[in-house]
Amino acid sequence: MLRAVAKRTLPFHSSISRFASTLVLAEHEGGSINASSVSAVAAASSLSKDNSISVLLAGLGPSLQEAAAHAASCHPAVSQVLVADSDKFTYPLAEPWAKLVHLVQQRGGYSHIIAPSGSFGKNILPRAAALLDVSPVTDVIEISEPNLFVRPIYAGNALCTVRYNGDSPCMLTIRSTSFPVPPSSADSKDNEAPISQVDLSTFGEDSRGKSRYVNQTSQNSERPDLGNARIVVTGGRGLKNAENFKMIEKLAEKLGAAVGATRAAVDAGFVPNDLQVGQTGKIVAPDLYMAFGVSGAIQHLAGIRDSKVIVAVNKDADAAIFQVADYGLVGDLFEVIPELLEKLPDR
Ligand code: FAD
Repeated sequence: MLRAVAKRTLPFHSSISRFASTLVLAEHEGGSINASSVSAVAAASSLSKDNSISVLLAGLGPSLQEAAAHAASCHPAVSQVLVADSDKFTYPLAEPWAKLVHLVQQRGGYSHIIAPSGSFGKNILPRAAALLDVSPVTDVIEISEPNLFVRPIYAGNALCTVRYNGDSPCMLTIRSTSFPVPPSSADSKDNEAPISQVDLSTFGEDSRGKSRYVNQTSQNSERPDLGNARIVVTGGRGLKNAENFKMIEKLAEKLGAAVGATRAAVDAGFVPNDLQVGQTGKIVAPDLYMAFGVSGAIQHLAGIRDSKVIVAVNKDADAAIFQVADYGLVGDLFEVIPELLEKLPDR
């Protein structure tokens, strides 16, 4: 993979003027760009038919170059990949990234800049927008025209149509669940876009700003990523403690599902906060969402509305979750989950 990258590397200056018009900011890990960044490319491809898309990656070393090769073939609409390979981007801190976006925009004159609406995009895009003196449109779920967007407001209870009349570039964060990538267009080996290294000679040294990398903890889990899982099993405060929450994890294992949690469960310390689903957590849109001991607060529902089938188990027949559930069971989760665990086959 690495050899292919080196061979197709083009000088950034010479290539940029031939390419327009949307820049997608991509997050990568372990040598590939993540699914929400591919969704941002899908969103960019819906802007207009003749829109060409540049994907910007930053980081350091071989895994970055591997991720660039992945980005080059992740979607047929990608027309080039720009790579900023430097120790300034060892960690995805907002300050150097925003400065990089500013630099690339000055050279490329893109009409749109798009990032996924996760912690990566939410961290970087507003700061980059401030440097470019434009106002970003966040959490876009539909692109009606190149300057007309739909975004949820009031925790998803209303949809707001926004016309962008500001200066170029128009900067967007998009909800990846609203821009799914058809399996046929993912990893399209037929389309391998050229990869260019970004010339950082004018980047300067004073880029680290006020934030500083402390550490990163990640869990080695075989479970699917919460944001993209086909099945999500969520536990709420009804689980009562961290020990009981392990039942949710066992059930998720049997179903090949991701584990989610309500904010109340996270705040009570049952699970870490990267499992939180909802307005201030992850937005999910699985085929099947199972909620155990979850009341269905408006802030939680904001994160699960696009789920295809919602199943809820709650001992309170009046719980709000039953208003959105396709299948509801009024019952005690401490009886229902063990029964499910017993009856479901091992994977
Ligand atoms: P509870 O509301 O306490 O509900 C527990 C449920 O468990 C109850 O319905 C109860 O009947 C049921 N239960 C108890 N025992 C059993 C049993 N043995 N068997 C079956 N059922 C049982 N919340 C989020 O989830 N995500 C967010 O992103 C989020 N963002 C927020 C942002 C803001 C600005 C604010 C103000 C709040 C936010 N919240 C969020 C919090 C939200 O308002 C609720 O407090 C939270 O979702 C409640 O979590 P819960 O359903 O687990 O707990």
